[in-house]
Amino acid sequence: MNVGPLRAGILSVGSELLLGDLTDTNATWISQRLRELGVEVHHHLAARDELDELVEALHWLAARAELVVIGGGLGPTRDDLTREAVAAAAGVGLEHRDDLEEEIRQRFAAMGRRMAPANLRQARVPAGARAFGPAGTAPGFALDLDLARLYALPGVPWELRELFTTEVAPEILARAGAGVSLTRRVHVVGRGESDVAAVVEPLFADRSELTLAFLAHADAIDVRLTVRAVDLATAQLASQPAVDEVVRALGPAVAGVDDEALEDAVLRLLTEAGHGLACAESVTAGDVAARLGRVPGASRALRGGVVVYATEAKHRQLGVDAGLLAAHGPVSAPVTEALAVGVRERFATDWGLAVTGVAGPDPVGELPVGTAFWALAGPSGTSEVHGRLVPGDRRQVIARLGSAALDLLRRRLLER
Ligand code: ATP
Repeated sequence: MNVGPLRAGILSVGSELLLGDLTDTNATWISQRLRELGVEVHHHLAARDELDELVEALHWLAARAELVVIGGGLGPTRDDLTREAVAAAAGVGLEHRDDLEEEIRQRFAAMGRRMAPANLRQARVPAGARAFGPAGTAPGFALDLDLARLYALPGVPWELRELFTTEVAPEILARAGAGVSLTRRVHVVGRGESDVAAVVEPLFADRSELTLAFLAHADAIDVRLTVRAVDLATAQLASQPAVDEVVRALGPAVAGVDDEALEDAVLRLLTEAGHGLACAESVTAGDVAARLGRVPGASRALRGGVVVYATEAKHRQLGVDAGLLAAHGPVSAPVTEALAVGVRERFATDWGLAVTGVAGPDPVGELPVGTAFWALAGPSGTSEVHGRLVPGDRRQVIARLGSAALDLLRRRLLER
């Protein structure tokens, strides 16, 4: 018998998932929640809206996990087969439940809509199941299948989340000895994965109570530290010294911990300094300002930005000298620096940040895809510019260049 953490499998139902038309964000979300509850997710499965295949998938998962969470297939149409599949797998019939029908009718009435006859299907659950919800119009249910506890939830993400939180999570928590697992994340910018690993791995060579992993994003490396404990508060406490150690070892390369991303850190530091920022963006077309603008409280430091995509716009809007543009080209170190200086002057801010580059897919003249320049003009009237070739496709070049610029500002703010 398994005496370790509970094992779980997730079954996502829907042919669109297999056709590649829909990304399975439900399974990702459920995995995150289960991990927080101390459950180990061993399998993600996606299955088409085919009864036999669903029944087979359920048996496969129930033979391997104590918990099976199903997302989707609880709608009112004939291709919504989760109810039928669970009933068939458990060898029971489907029961119409008057209380569920009443609930669903009330949901429709509250929305000012008439319930279609097809929605009556949603009032049916496998015999012996505990039904719950609905959050929208699809009730979920829980049932034992072989040795596994199985939960069926609607596929609509907000409904799935609500019913998981209110109906599934408490039941899992109540199962003895589940404990919790917590993953802390340290975000590192401007250093490669192997470089980060070489610093961090030796710190945790003999620490079996802690799992260390690295996750590379387009513009950052996450150092992930996972600990298990009886509850979240204990896990938080137990993980803190390890997080502190990583932060100390990596120094200014650490842009943030857990939910603090690079742009959060930049805005926090700007706000602490009482400084304002303006951005001049060519290749990123406003992405840097938009990233900052998504952070709550951005208005305390972000004064504005301009998209100077065309060469002429760089001259007309930000006063970049026509001779400089002609001599070096619009994507160049001197022009990027002049943009940073220009935008700082126009907005009368402490800092001016500018980016130019070539995002691809085609090179621009002699400049290869990934050519990137970023520049910063600062409070004392000084300015600096950096450039290199950044790897990746169009989206990644835009993300990496924006992060390089934001990271430069973050580091200069830290030095103050
Ligand atoms: P329900 O069980 O609530 O009827 P369903 O499985 O029938 O859901 P669909 O009607 O196929 O779901 O999809 C409803 C909505 O839920 C769509 O907007 C779809 O994009 C979304 N959705 C369904 N499954 C997933 C999933 N695995 N991940 C993310 N979104 C999903």
